[in-house]
Amino acid sequence: MKKNVQQPQLPPKAEFSEWYHELLAAAGILDVRYPVKGLYVWPPFGFGLRNKIYSIIRELLNRDGHEEVLFPLLIPENEFMKEAEHIKGFEDEVYWVTHGGTTPLEMKLALRPTSETAIYPMYKLWVRSHADLPMKLYQVVNTFRYETKHTRPLIRLREITSFKEAHTVNTDWNDAAKQVDRAIEIYQEFYRRLAVPTIVSKRPDWDKFPGADYTLAVDCLMPDGRVLQIGTAHHLADNFAKTFEITYEDINGEQVYAHQTCYGISERSVAATISIHGDDRGLVLPPEVAPVQVVIIPVLFGEPDVNEKVLDSCMSLRDTLVNAHGIRSRIDDSDERPGAKYYRWELQGVPIRIEIGPRDLAQNSAMLVRRDTSEKRAIPIGEVASEVADCMDAMLADMYRAASQELNSRIFDCETLDEVKEKSVHGVARVPWCLDRNCGLEMEDITGIHILGIPAGSQQSTSAGPRPGQGQEHGRCPICGREGIAVLMARTY
Ligand code: ZN
Repeated sequence: MKKNVQQPQLPPKAEFSEWYHELLAAAGILDVRYPVKGLYVWPPFGFGLRNKIYSIIRELLNRDGHEEVLFPLLIPENEFMKEAEHIKGFEDEVYWVTHGGTTPLEMKLALRPTSETAIYPMYKLWVRSHADLPMKLYQVVNTFRYETKHTRPLIRLREITSFKEAHTVNTDWNDAAKQVDRAIEIYQEFYRRLAVPTIVSKRPDWDKFPGADYTLAVDCLMPDGRVLQIGTAHHLADNFAKTFEITYEDINGEQVYAHQTCYGISERSVAATISIHGDDRGLVLPPEVAPVQVVIIPVLFGEPDVNEKVLDSCMSLRDTLVNAHGIRSRIDDSDERPGAKYYRWELQGVPIRIEIGPRDLAQNSAMLVRRDTSEKRAIPIGEVASEVADCMDAMLADMYRAASQELNSRIFDCETLDEVKEKSVHGVARVPWCLDRNCGLEMEDITGIHILGIPAGSQQSTSAGPRPGQGQEHGRCPICGREGIAVLMARTY
């Protein structure tokens, strides 16, 4: 699609919410004009980016021995209603299919809000013996939730288009706990490849997944100081196994209940990537996931025969980059002025721009421009390909370092709830908590800010979890004055 009109200027990133919405439209990530609230359309550029991001999570899961499957969208009411706690967590959000044509269905069908109750009746049939375990399957599907809160593109949706949900069956509680830890490691690696630094914490009991023993979550800090949950892993113990009769024959020949885990990632991973790295000029994409990694811009202002040589040089460079190095490269030889081209490709976050004009050609070189730093360097044309590869590696490392510094500078140690309120405007507050439920709820009530949980690195996933007085003292609980350990509090999406 060629646009002749000048793109509207983006609001500065300091006005994050406006910037985010404008950027989605201007860069072609998501079209929000679909006539159903909370449902959005992926146009080609955005879908290309989404697919590149999801190919990383697929690669990591497959490498770890997971296998991809695909379950139906519709879940019969009787299966959906089996697990009491799970139902309580989702009943207000479920869309129901009640008719086939004009005929009322004998049994209502739920549009999956998540797939435990679709998958586990089949696990009952599939799991037979300890030799089948661990079973590690995942799918990437759309799920539906009737959100009553304010919907927000890629962040709070009624159709989650890209829910990567993994469901494992493990032999016992400890094996499942290890699986949950492994899931978090995979997610952290996934986000490192997107240059997104993460915070891992164990959610407080009132914020865990409905039906789980406990939930570990991966969060990131958005530019406006609010925290976005971008991945969760749940230890389901044998809660669902008992409901869905998932048993196996153990090594002694006894039938025992399996233990299970599930863990998910959504298109919030795309939201995090574009929000954390973008700047006033638009997207800044980690090279691995950029739909276009290199754009080559011929600078044509010479005589026709010179222009032709410039174009030839551009094409031969593109062929080298694409064919010999597998770098996704495009030539922009449209009639627009170079400035307008720079603007558009910067908006779309293309990591490297290469300019070749008559002067460059005369010196047998090309001008390389990095999107994240705007650094500009003349490179001999024969070295461009290897330089581009090095440059893309350096970009990922630099983007991750910059984002990590930003995150670390916005985690604040606090002693009082007044401090928590003050600091959470800018980021994450770390504050002692005695771990008593009532104190925790009161801390949330008084501040209006969420407890994310106990940061990982403490004994976050062991059976009992950390206890006060086990080497993690961090002052006094602001409610009761007893000894507490550090927990994270933040404003959340
Ligand atoms: Zn307390």
